[in-house]
Amino acid sequence: MTSQPILLTNVRLPNGEEADIRIGVGQFTEIGKGLVPQSGEDLMDGGGDLVLPGFVDGHMHLDKTLTGTPWMSHRAGPTRKSRIDTERNMRSDLAPVEERASNLVRLCIGHGTSAIRTHVDIDPSIGLKHVEALLQVRKNFADAVDMQLVAFPQSGVQSHAGMTDYLSAAIDAGVDLVGGIDPIAIDDDLDGQLDTLFAIAEKKNVGIDIHVHDPGENGLREIAGVTDRAKAHGMAKRVTISHGFSLGAAEEGKLLKLADQMAEAGVSLATHGGGASPLPPIKILREHGVEVFAGNDDVRDTWSPLGEGDMLERATMIAWRSGYRTDDDLLIALDCTTAAGKRVLGLPDAGITVGAPADLVTVKAEVAAEAVARHPQRKLVFKKGRIVARDEVYDE
Ligand SMILES: [Zn+2]
Repeated sequence: MTSQPILLTNVRLPNGEEADIRIGVGQFTEIGKGLVPQSGEDLMDGGGDLVLPGFVDGHMHLDKTLTGTPWMSHRAGPTRKSRIDTERNMRSDLAPVEERASNLVRLCIGHGTSAIRTHVDIDPSIGLKHVEALLQVRKNFADAVDMQLVAFPQSGVQSHAGMTDYLSAAIDAGVDLVGGIDPIAIDDDLDGQLDTLFAIAEKKNVGIDIHVHDPGENGLREIAGVTDRAKAHGMAKRVTISHGFSLGAAEEGKLLKLADQMAEAGVSLATHGGGASPLPPIKILREHGVEVFAGNDDVRDTWSPLGEGDMLERATMIAWRSGYRTDDDLLIALDCTTAAGKRVLGLPDAGITVGAPADLVTVKAEVAAEAVARHPQRKLVFKKGRIVARDEVYDE
């Protein structure tokens, strides 16, 4: 990996403007036309490519992936419970978590991802084994990608004795946020699960990111329950609803009321684009002040065989499912995969500007909207001023 200061010439900024970019130690130091090389600086010709900021994958499951292992046909039935049970039964036959997760991290970096929030499974049968593996993966890739971990009690919190202790122990071990899942469908105890999660979060001074797949009124009640508690606990900008499919099917009055409440409480929404479920109306939520960011969610695992860990392709999918056509709308999808994710993860979100961390990706496109529409191949990926991937291949 190169760590020299670099003058990257002949590129286009996201708005299409031609420019040269001087990349110093970890940050952009100068952006302009006709910059003159300085001594000790590597000179690189960007070939007229467009630069985009590094992508944020705000919702991943690195410990679940089968990336890099032989193809395995999907085995689970059509329900969430079958996916959870199938995965639990297969776990011991899979390659080690650290190996599979590392394969996916390399793939993500190759696609230009510079930060990841990943959920990590915790249940009584594995305890903190997956946590330990992902803490090691985070350490191994610390120079190439920022990583946040969320303790994910996939089989439920109230349904299993000892889960509160496991979640607390995960935070003590270095996990950044407490997770949860469908308190009504999984635990049949809306208040019980949410009270437990918020108590741990308060005690350990960490944020919360909870999966809410439940459809209809149950999903809306869960989102309201999270939002009310986020407000009561003063946890603005530290609480995320992941998926929130029920928002995508809610009657308008209910949707707007909940959107205003989420915005007021500072609760963000992570989306992977909805899949076969209703997609929350991203534009409306953002207009009402809700921070919406994006993630790939499952990438080739026992829950879904799809995915390549590519956030620019995810932006394309989000735009497609949202019916976005204008450049301005395509840029909403890009913001969900870049700056919005950085804001939620607490990272600088200034993009490609002087003084910002030198995380960037180059692609063959004229403007950022075109890159969202076509998700072209990533040519170069920089993290903190160093090249970490070329032609979508992680630079060991
Ligand atoms: Zn998930």
